[in-house]
Amino acid sequence: MFDIPLMGEGTGSVEALPSYLHRCAYHHAVPTTKFLEYLHRECNRLHDQKQTYFKASQTVSMRSLLTYGEYPRMYVKVIKHLTGRDVASATFLPLMAVVSQPQVEICRSARWCPECFKSIRDLGSEPYIKLVWHLSEVTHCPHHHTPLLEACPHCGADQNAVGRKLPLDVCHKCERSLSERTVAPAEISPSWAYQAGDLLRLLTHIPHRSGDCINTRGLIKPEGLERSINDFSIRCAEPEFDAAYEYCWTNKDVRKQVWGCQSISLRTVRALAHLTNVDIIDVLTGNLLNRTKAMRYLWRQPVPEPLALNRSRDKHDHGKCFQRLTELARSETPLSLKEVARRAGLSIGYINYRFPVLKQQIVARYEKHLEQLALDKHHRAMQAALRYFNSSQYEKHPKSRKQALKHLLDETDLTKLYLKPAIESAYQKYQQQ
Ligand SMILES: [Zn+2]
Ligand SMILES: [Zn+2]
Repeated sequence: MFDIPLMGEGTGSVEALPSYLHRCAYHHAVPTTKFLEYLHRECNRLHDQKQTYFKASQTVSMRSLLTYGEYPRMYVKVIKHLTGRDVASATFLPLMAVVSQPQVEICRSARWCPECFKSIRDLGSEPYIKLVWHLSEVTHCPHHHTPLLEACPHCGADQNAVGRKLPLDVCHKCERSLSERTVAPAEISPSWAYQAGDLLRLLTHIPHRSGDCINTRGLIKPEGLERSINDFSIRCAEPEFDAAYEYCWTNKDVRKQVWGCQSISLRTVRALAHLTNVDIIDVLTGNLLNRTKAMRYLWRQPVPEPLALNRSRDKHDHGKCFQRLTELARSETPLSLKEVARRAGLSIGYINYRFPVLKQQIVARYEKHLEQLALDKHHRAMQAALRYFNSSQYEKHPKSRKQALKHLLDETDLTKLYLKPAIESAYQKYQQQ
């Protein structure tokens, strides 16, 4: 594997892992699926195990690389092994031990700023997707203040496909440029609006901090945040912490996160940092008290709108929600309840409480879909197994169950779960003949 540089490394504009993998594949002149399969094979070799991670195309979706699952860790490790390059800063993994709600905080779909794409091209460089665009709270490009896009302006396709062959600023479906659009002035966020500057700083800080606040696996240690919360709890009655104390105490969810058993969200950490006038990284590494008192007294700013309380308690327009949910419930490929809730931006609890019948329909339809998929796979496995033992095409292949499994695992996209029983019964029939 060639060593491909990680774009924006060490800055707030660092590239996201899915984007990096797409670009690596592009530079090796293979579709991304093929490149992932290569990484999986290398990883298996590294572990000296044969089939832990086989068939990348089946199991990996680009979206899953942004949460804390096993795949991002595996890719970071195998890329480090192959090229010596540490790409952990292209993921949210360093935050794993401290921020524990990736499903809400991270927008897993690919989003981009056409203006950034264009300016990167104009500089003669290669467009890439920035990690910061994957944070749900970032809706506008922190540099251009224009809204981020998540669908191709020409054909409406999203850009989450794993089998991409084109550069990232070209739609994988209609092959037209993703850096063109017309923005209405009203869509541009004003330059004084509260932007994601703190998040950019956070992403800049992470790769440059080491030693006592980052552990050997590259994760920010949870002790730092605990120390900051502890310091804050002891001093929250002091006037300099007034604003922060009021913020944390008046919202039930935030209160549970700070003084209860609920895990803390990135949003709460942001608010705490903003209201006590330190950087997020200082809160995360236990340096909440690092500013002088005088600085705090000067800091009497109101909470910026994006961090304001009770935003998640906005009244839902039930009619609109219902309409959106019914659309999703009728989608061409049935979706799981979790996916429906995610796409509609609603909680499962809300759907369950407000639309129980619709919820049941969604669940039933999805279960039926899964059953159908399994049935199809059983059929295909059976056909493949029968062909192996009986068709002239496989005349020269040894007629053993082990060989059949080995061969069919390579030839089809089916897993052992389906192939084994099919081969067994095809083999019985073959023996009887
Ligand atoms: Zn931009
Ligand atoms: Zn398109």
